Amino acid sequence: MRRWLTGRTSVQVHTWIKKSYQTRSISSLTLKDMSSALRTMAYDVVVSNPIRAPRVDPGQSARPDHHLDDAATRFKNPWASFQFPPAVQFAKAIFHSPSVPKNIAELIPVIKPTWGVDLNPNEVKATWLGHACYLVELPTPKGATRGPRIIFDPVFSERCSPFQRVGPARYTPTPCKLDEIPAIDAIVISHNHYDHTDSSTISFLYKRYSPHVFMPLGNKPYLLSLQIPESHAHVRDWWEETLVSISLPSSAPAKSTNQDPDVTKESNPSGMTSSSSSSGDEPVNSKAESVQTSFKLTFTPGQHVANRGPFDRWKSLWGSWVVEQVHTEDKSEGGLIQPKKVYFAGDTGYRSLLEGQDIDLAPTCPAFKEIGEKFGSFDLALIPIGYVQLWIGVTLIDHMHVHPSESVRIFQDVNAKKALAMHWGTWVLTTEPVMEPPELLKEEAKKIGIPEGDFDICGLGETRSF
Ligand SMILES: [Zn+2]
Repeated sequence: MRRWLTGRTSVQVHTWIKKSYQTRSISSLTLKDMSSALRTMAYDVVVSNPIRAPRVDPGQSARPDHHLDDAATRFKNPWASFQFPPAVQFAKAIFHSPSVPKNIAELIPVIKPTWGVDLNPNEVKATWLGHACYLVELPTPKGATRGPRIIFDPVFSERCSPFQRVGPARYTPTPCKLDEIPAIDAIVISHNHYDHTDSSTISFLYKRYSPHVFMPLGNKPYLLSLQIPESHAHVRDWWEETLVSISLPSSAPAKSTNQDPDVTKESNPSGMTSSSSSSGDEPVNSKAESVQTSFKLTFTPGQHVANRGPFDRWKSLWGSWVVEQVHTEDKSEGGLIQPKKVYFAGDTGYRSLLEGQDIDLAPTCPAFKEIGEKFGSFDLALIPIGYVQLWIGVTLIDHMHVHPSESVRIFQDVNAKKALAMHWGTWVLTTEPVMEPPELLKEEAKKIGIPEGDFDICGLGETRSF
């Protein structure tokens, strides 16, 4: 049964979120102190051609089962777990939009991101920037000023819509301005829906930092339309992997030059000139030695659809991403450390349950177990928990989003060690009460035996390390 959130429960959720972020607040560092390391751009980023990863299921035909044609221009969900519900269910759901609690600013804390500069540099850091946007920094290689940075599904526009005058507006703010995002090396996007793909955000980040941009198959024309050059616009199919090699500035003191020490200018690989100055507001590219590192990016399946208008459904792909740290080194007496692995689930369903169907008989999407088998386990999984459709008092387990009872199943299927929630707390896009997903996640994690805190909720702008 659908349950609207009571005032008592709201307070419980609030306390739970607040407690976790308070323990991680920093006191001695200021944003200005961190500015240099945060703005430091990579000297060079080289992206390999895609390599199709070996399938766990070797019985694959020449045409992948998620392709609708041989030219790879139309796609489908190839599982029994995906069924379109009758349109009438969506139509009825429209009339049940929830209201946003007046005290939403207390219920979902928003803190200015510190990007984890005070956290263990040998761990993966993840900062929640609203909805499905996370900035992930891989461990800092020995001798470097920072680790490789990837931003997933960045959307900083006010409205989740093709137009900025109409459409759902944010009920929580972004925790920082777009120009406060630190230097990033890659933008990685799960699919082209407006709550995951925002043209103005991508364009801004590209102009500022020249990151490589990765999207699913079918999105190359879109990326080129944003003036992202072919060299930096990459589209991938499910199970294709890419090696991203990065030359990061060394933390060793810069070699002395005859230049003005306050202002240094040089071109990055795209030809864009970046500068460092004492203001700390601009990207920094100093004259220090470089440190080489790399990570592997694999595009993996998910159960969803993709389109930006009424006539392009199925013409571009959707999915999830796996990031694997490749660089390993002897950190201390412990010897070689295990490379970190991160799973970004994007936007996905887990099964389709229509009114009157038995949930125990509904087939589940096999992709997550396949991902778990291929990659072994993940140090961090970023998993959606919200935006299920509801229909007249009954939760409709929909075919393209997950209910928290399914989020916890994905956690187990992919063998996540830890997870953070996403895809909630930003816009009213469906009919569920806005504070219900974190409440249900806590209940469902307990029910399925996930230890408290292993699949957690964080505040907006908060950074956690893993
Ligand atoms: Zn979507």
